[in-house]
Amino acid sequence: MRVTRSIQATREVLAHANGPKALVPTMGFLHAGHIALVEAAKERAAHVSATIFVNPTQFGQAADLDAYPRDEIRDLHMLEKAGVDLVFIPEVGEIYPEGDETIVETTQMANMLHGLVRPGHFRGVTTVVSRLFNIFSPDIALFGEKDFQQLQVIKRMVQDLHFPLEIIGVPTVREPDGLAMSSRNVRLSAEERKAALCLSQALDAAGEAQSISELEQIIRAKIDAEPRAHLRGLDIVEASSLQQPTGHPSEPIAVMLSVEVGPVLLIDQRVYPPLGNERI
Ligand code: AMP
Repeated sequence: MRVTRSIQATREVLAHANGPKALVPTMGFLHAGHIALVEAAKERAAHVSATIFVNPTQFGQAADLDAYPRDEIRDLHMLEKAGVDLVFIPEVGEIYPEGDETIVETTQMANMLHGLVRPGHFRGVTTVVSRLFNIFSPDIALFGEKDFQQLQVIKRMVQDLHFPLEIIGVPTVREPDGLAMSSRNVRLSAEERKAALCLSQALDAAGEAQSISELEQIIRAKIDAEPRAHLRGLDIVEASSLQQPTGHPSEPIAVMLSVEVGPVLLIDQRVYPPLGNERI
């Protein structure tokens, strides 16, 4: 496994790679969710690259950026074991050079739903991901469904900017008790860790709902019942467009949930079968 820190060295390694190339962008502090992306990449491509870059432009508050956990040595062991060919670990100045002033933004999709809770977040994501695509020129790039809006935003950007690559979404990997794996989970105290289960439990319970309003009611009630949890975002949308459900009987419904548990903003997501016209 090669490890590079400069764009030039990365391009030199890639120039010698044979066959289809995959890219798995991450912010490090890896867990089984990231490794699932690597495994999905290995099934589809001959050469797999991962990146570890805690992207400052997608963090609203400096405190959140500073608190983001890091463990490069452990990450490299995990990636090597998973069979990654190349890992790129740039400094901030490598990605955002002196005098940098170019941004990439999906104007609507970035500024709705979760984007309203975290202004500028998706602009930071599309800006960094487009730069990574230009550095790697991958054939495929893999992203988790857990960050559902991010996945849709990146698909839109790739389509709009004519990036010649395919985006592949990978299902959320969970702890045995249902909590979606996240690098942020280590910041939860033992009590908060228990409380954090309310996200996946709320999404499970909502599977019983017969209408959109009932779905919302069930989720709100489950989160409100947990004193350590504070609902920060609940978006119920058509899965492919992220628009308000129209009641079209063939449209799956996506629920995106942001909940603050102690100091940590956790997210989870689920796609439900269509609820149908009469069930809104
Ligand atoms: P991050 O390091 O949090 O930026 O995540 C890097 C990639 O891993 C993103 O595409 C995430 O959606 C994906 N990811 C994070 N957690 C999970 C998970 N539990 N299951 C599947 N993919 C995940």
